[in-house]
Amino acid sequence: MSKKKIIIAIDGFSSTGKSTVAKELAKYLGYIYVDTGAMYRAVTLYALQHQIAKDQKVNSKELKEQLGQVHIQFRYNNSLGYSEVYLNGSMVEHKIRGMEVSSYVSKVAAISEVRKKMVALQQNMGKEKGVVMDGRDIGTVVFPEAELKLFMTASAETRAKRRYDEMLAKGVTDLTYQEVYDNVVQRDEIDTQRKDSPLVKASDAIEIDNSQMSREEQFEYILSLVQKKI
Ligand code: C5P
Repeated sequence: MSKKKIIIAIDGFSSTGKSTVAKELAKYLGYIYVDTGAMYRAVTLYALQHQIAKDQKVNSKELKEQLGQVHIQFRYNNSLGYSEVYLNGSMVEHKIRGMEVSSYVSKVAAISEVRKKMVALQQNMGKEKGVVMDGRDIGTVVFPEAELKLFMTASAETRAKRRYDEMLAKGVTDLTYQEVYDNVVQRDEIDTQRKDSPLVKASDAIEIDNSQMSREEQFEYILSLVQKKI
């Protein structure tokens, strides 16, 4: 018997390992993985490239005017086994992960017009179900009817340490742990305080604090939740 296809919404704070588990789940289930943070990061890169974001400020009026020229797409990379994000035809997966984009992205993501455009794209990508989508507002705004909603948390120290180690592993050395920690805390603050679609746990989401969980334990636990729904 073929299994029912569902929408799995994974929300939570920055660097809680949402994308790691979302990718693993999608691979295991044969689902599409959508990294919605990458979409906001790509819009932020556009804003930086066009001097719409500079000196730690974002010119929201200008960005709104240029939004029609910002085209975000995912293309599947066979050898990696997941999709990469493209901005106006260029693969920007690496450029969007640096500290510069990280330090502006929450300001860009707080702009309603930007959210409206991204949410419409996300809803379109999930309309056939069979998706694992991670972000901040997936269970509350993008797919309030998702069959499984998870809300991931971990202490700010644990998250900053993970992100810092990840950066070091990638060969990024011009960065201190304190800078990473400050960015995580700053994004938490903006993401939870913004007016439009703030980061909040959906009432029917299952909260997972993974500070003390290994990657394998977390995957097994989440998979057991998925099995009950399909
Ligand atoms: O998931 P990631 O940490 O890459 O997301 C980067 C930023 O994009 C978040 O800090 C948040 O400001 C924004 N975001 C959002 N809504 C989403 C996904 C990400 O506002 N669904």
